[in-house]
Amino acid sequence: MPLFQSTAPFQDDDAALRRHLADAHLPSLLAAVAHVTGDLSILEDELRPEDTFMAQVPGGLGEGPRERAIEVLVRQLAAFRDAGCPEPRTPDDETLTRILGFLVPDAKLDDYLPLLLEELAIGDGDRRAPEWNKREIAPEREFRVAIIGAGMSGLAAAHRLNQAGVPFVIFEKNDDVGGTWLENTYPGCRVDIQNHFYSYSFAQRIDWPLLYSTHDVLLDYFQQCAEDFGLRDSIQFGTEVTSMTWDDASATWKLRTKTGDTEETFVAQAVVSAVGQLNRPQIPEIPGQDRFQGPAFHSAEWDHAVDLEGKRVAVIGTGASAAQFVPAIAPRVAEMAVFQRTPNWMFPRPDYHEAPPAGQQWCFAHVPAFAQWYRFWVFWVGAEGAIPLVGADPDWSPRDRSLSAGNEMLREALTAYLLEQAGGDEDLAAKIVPDYPPAAKRILVDNGSWVNALRQPHVSLVTDEIREIDESGVVDANGTHHPADVIVYGTGFQAQRFLTPMKVTGRDGRDLHEAWAGNPRAYLGITVPGFPNFFCLYGPNTNIVVSGSIIYFSECEVNYLVESLRILMAEGLKTMDCRPAVLDAYVEKVDAGNALMAWGAATVDSWYKNDAGRVTQNWPFSLLEYWQQTRTVDVSDYEVG
Ligand code: NAP
Repeated sequence: MPLFQSTAPFQDDDAALRRHLADAHLPSLLAAVAHVTGDLSILEDELRPEDTFMAQVPGGLGEGPRERAIEVLVRQLAAFRDAGCPEPRTPDDETLTRILGFLVPDAKLDDYLPLLLEELAIGDGDRRAPEWNKREIAPEREFRVAIIGAGMSGLAAAHRLNQAGVPFVIFEKNDDVGGTWLENTYPGCRVDIQNHFYSYSFAQRIDWPLLYSTHDVLLDYFQQCAEDFGLRDSIQFGTEVTSMTWDDASATWKLRTKTGDTEETFVAQAVVSAVGQLNRPQIPEIPGQDRFQGPAFHSAEWDHAVDLEGKRVAVIGTGASAAQFVPAIAPRVAEMAVFQRTPNWMFPRPDYHEAPPAGQQWCFAHVPAFAQWYRFWVFWVGAEGAIPLVGADPDWSPRDRSLSAGNEMLREALTAYLLEQAGGDEDLAAKIVPDYPPAAKRILVDNGSWVNALRQPHVSLVTDEIREIDESGVVDANGTHHPADVIVYGTGFQAQRFLTPMKVTGRDGRDLHEAWAGNPRAYLGITVPGFPNFFCLYGPNTNIVVSGSIIYFSECEVNYLVESLRILMAEGLKTMDCRPAVLDAYVEKVDAGNALMAWGAATVDSWYKNDAGRVTQNWPFSLLEYWQQTRTVDVSDYEVG
């Protein structure tokens, strides 16, 4: 996979250009054209984007500005065409800052510019590639890294180590790469962040077939990346790491691996855990569930051998997975009872299941830098720019329905959407509108298919508690028996049990799970005191902000990992071990930050919190701040040896 698929020259006449522009995102396109031509005069104030997180305006502009933008763009693109579609030059920083300021006038542009250059890979290309190589800085040093997991994060780490010439082996329990996109095959499974942002900065596609790809497209993407970056030969498939133990004398980790019945030991100077957070299914214990006579399975272990055609299906849970598979299977089943404990807030995204509009596709394919500026736009509107809507104001009251002025605004918009969906059915409306503040739990993405499925005559939404399961169905707290041939658990994952079931033994025989004791903490989500040269990817408190991309976080973590390895080798150090006081101070800040976010301030339960109610999953600050904090490594944060 090249860094970018390149755009193709075009000869379309002005009328065709006008047609293409009719359904393209015009502010991002203006940014791209200014980037390509250097003509900043086209970035007129009235052409700034009107999109907000809640309402996406078709084309990003209202009617008047839209006409004007199309005029400007047709003229510019025609001139570009007539000049033979020359290779664009790389704009200087001042030009980029002006373009950035056009899209997001309120941002601290000087802070965002360096992030932007990396995340969009502008100009010189892959700016996150290591600028060093082991061959040059420590040619004689024996150094081998074990990466656990060949999902999205593990592949990113492997690619960077490959570039830096650091030997590594990836252990993958499955028989292929792809992690969550390999394991989750349930009907309707897809990403809920637009792919122009949910993709590696170093492998940006311009031809995503869908705005939000289905799992098979994503699996292809990650498999292709593994292939193109030459990583496959370094992966031991079907191999689970069962334990790892630190040995101070040799400053190495000894990993025990299991491939089938064969157990082996692997010695590494550093270990990268890239095992994900959401892959150990959580099936609740419900009285009588073993008595059920039909098939029963979890969404992440979908049993495709079970034909749901004409069956009565009971679905337990209504989170992100169920919201996707319930609409997908509804047309096939004879009856479906959906057991909901807590309703979800949902962002309206009418284009959730759509391909990019034809004109947008054309622009991706032909206008240089458009896909990159659109990537920035998705980053901004879905995550960074939406943070005020999910903040918690300590002085705000009442606090049960919202937590700040922005959060209340969000609540009103999302409530209006759900009520519109309920279409005047008051019983349904009472069931589907949450009674907790938006963003206290993960907000789902919806194009209407969820409520549409629930409104089918053969589908019922049951909000009474489940009392038990018997041989032939599910019994609710009222004693109503809901007959079922199949039960599907959409009940989520054991998100709190980071790194389980691996046994990780650090310095002085310290067990990681005992040390965490149900309260996982890692410095920047990456390093843990007493566990030298051990790096977590997607560790504690690195989960996305609003609708950010977890790939963004993983790339930041990988950057920190690679820089740590450079320091170890360049400075001839054997070990880096996070100082406990550094972690304590960091966690204090993260906890204080989370207390000011909806998911931390609200009392409702979620998988973001541990049993004690502490938010162990989410990053509470901006994406910019995570990038800033992981960009360099401060060696004084570590005891080095
Ligand atoms: P989830 O969001 O944690 O949802 C689990 C559901 O099961 C919730 O509705 C929960 O209710 C319910 N539940 C749990 N135990 C129950 C019990 N004993 N009785 C009745 N209901 C019970 O899990 P998920 O849907 O698998 O999603 C987990 C995360 O994976 C998501 O938040 C997201 O980050 C990721 N994911 C992403 C996508 C995507 O990008 N499109 C898709 C799927 C998953 P309560 O809310 O009351 O606990």
